[in-house]
Amino acid sequence: MTNRTLQLDDNLYRYLLDNSLRESDAAKKLRAETASLPKGRMQIAPEQGQFIALLARLIGARRTLEIGVFTGYSSLCVAEALPDDGLIVACDIDRDWTDIARRHWQQAGVADKIDLRLAPALDTLDALLAEGGQNSFDLAFIDADKQRYQDYYERCLQLVRPGGVILLDNVLWSGRVADPEERAPNTRALRALNSALKDDPRIWLSLLPLGDGMTIAMKR
Ligand code: SAM
Ligand code: CA
Repeated sequence: MTNRTLQLDDNLYRYLLDNSLRESDAAKKLRAETASLPKGRMQIAPEQGQFIALLARLIGARRTLEIGVFTGYSSLCVAEALPDDGLIVACDIDRDWTDIARRHWQQAGVADKIDLRLAPALDTLDALLAEGGQNSFDLAFIDADKQRYQDYYERCLQLVRPGGVILLDNVLWSGRVADPEERAPNTRALRALNSALKDDPRIWLSLLPLGDGMTIAMKR
């Protein structure tokens, strides 16, 4: 027994997946296709997808935001958990990757729940705010360019309702955030973000060592 978070070796990680992962056939297919891409490792871990989907159900999410779609795995997981009239506003700038996403969303029968906006995410979020979208979303998942996370977070904090949740991925950045020798711009940005969220009185907070580190911020 231990009173700190376990380190998962390959064997225990396999056990975790074997004994808890419930992935739809559609999600399995998308993960297999993405694994063959050069940038396939940008995809979230499958247990993360399942966790986000469970969280969406826990808070009764109907309207969600996704910032960073790639080939659409996290969107697919959330879409499967939303009610029939649920909506994801999904932001990305890359047509090739999101064409793969669209094809899989269609095959999975969830394409009607996903409004893909191909534009810089800040523009899309600002447009939602300009349209009066404040407090109209239940959940936001931030997983795009790391140096803009704080800008995305500030917009999402306005767009989600009190009691709504913002998730931020890769906050442990393969451990680099804790290494003072690491001074790359993405590392510094994530470090500054983690430090700012620690004392942000507008949220309830938990940083989970799930995947590459995922923060849950609940708007008070
Ligand atoms: N959540 C995805 C999944 O589950 O597979 C992974 C997202 S991937 C780590 C990051 C994505 O952010 C890429 O698809 C990239 O095109 C997108 N991106 C980068 N800069 C962006 C920007 N300024 N606005 C919107 N999307 C951006
Ligand atoms: Ca990620």
